[in-house]
Amino acid sequence: MNIRIEKAERLKKLPVYLFAELDNLKTEAKKKGIDIIDLGVGSPDLPAPSNIIKRAQDEIADKNNHGYPSYIGMIEFRKATASWYKERFNVNLDPETEILALIGSKEGIGHIPLAFINEGDVVLVPDPGYPVYQAGTVFAGGVPYFMPLLRENNFFPDFKKIDPKVLKKAKLMFINYPNNPTTAVANKEFFEEVVAFASKNNIIVCHDAAYSEIYYDKKIISFLEVDGAKDVGIEFHSFSKTYNMAGWRIGFAAGNKDILSGLGQIKTNLDSGIFQAVQLAAVEALRSPKQIKKEIVNVYQERRNLFVNGLKKLKWDVIYPEATFYVWVAVPKGLTSRELTTALIKECGIVATPGAGFGSAGEGYIRFSLTTEKKRLQEALDRIGKLKI
Ligand SMILES: *Cc1c(COP(=O)(O)O)cnc(C)c1O
Repeated sequence: MNIRIEKAERLKKLPVYLFAELDNLKTEAKKKGIDIIDLGVGSPDLPAPSNIIKRAQDEIADKNNHGYPSYIGMIEFRKATASWYKERFNVNLDPETEILALIGSKEGIGHIPLAFINEGDVVLVPDPGYPVYQAGTVFAGGVPYFMPLLRENNFFPDFKKIDPKVLKKAKLMFINYPNNPTTAVANKEFFEEVVAFASKNNIIVCHDAAYSEIYYDKKIISFLEVDGAKDVGIEFHSFSKTYNMAGWRIGFAAGNKDILSGLGQIKTNLDSGIFQAVQLAAVEALRSPKQIKKEIVNVYQERRNLFVNGLKKLKWDVIYPEATFYVWVAVPKGLTSRELTTALIKECGIVATPGAGFGSAGEGYIRFSLTTEKKRLQEALDRIGKLKI
């Protein structure tokens, strides 16, 4: 006889998966033989550059790389990361204590609440936002408090609006710029406000900088560039978007050593580090000629120009993306984000993500992902032009 299998309360506390319905519609459309253009997923469509692949191949062949790796990352990886930070952001980091290797930045983001959140502590979470901020918080027994990112505030949270009673219980906050899904970028003034707010209220800042290298018009700054940032927080970085290495699973966190030490302690008890061949391939990535990164960004820039101009010609209300490979678009009045994405699948065979799937403040928008070649984006525009809404 089968045992009764019941999921833990923490899983039941997660929000319903809004994208499930979209997946069903997609499968249905495919069955009908509709040619689907998938602008829903945020996974790069191009492979990692060949110098990185070559380095990984060489390192896999080296038997010295086959054992358990260091928990916090190879010193060679941490040193290369510190040099990259210095060159890219002019921020000094101690590779011994101020850098921690991660199995992709998602892993660190998901685990960090376990290191600092007690039952009932509040975590400030951007809405709309990457779902892992909420999931990690709930798994640690914390309570997410959603900070709406509104267009009239340039998609920055308004700290003045947070109830003082909530603030008292707040112990950690997530922010994310360049932002997924709104594509907003932060300026120095905003980061300074974050440092002042966090210092005053004793809140740990976790800045998710997964898209720091996918920018077009203006160089993206690091949270750690701001005075006092290292006293209050850390920054998460990813190789997934920058170097098309999403499946390789490597990222890192940098900044305050006590915060990193807490995260490191959780990780030491749960995982056993990142395959050394992958860490050394990431070192290769960081040391690649600038041209390599530029070529990757140029691909997205051409796609962005094509797609954004096309949507504008069709009179769509587009938030102009200065960074990330997403396009955040306002939904016409009278429709919900789900109604629009449903119409796009059924009538155009185009998959986009409803803003409501990223949180209630995402309602009123949908997200297109530019992880598809230009020819297909043009085809998508042609189909959208015929959509009757
Ligand atoms: C893709 C993404 C990540 C995760 O990247 P990995 O390094 O692959 O885990 C983190 N944050 C945001 C906002 C992302 O979009």
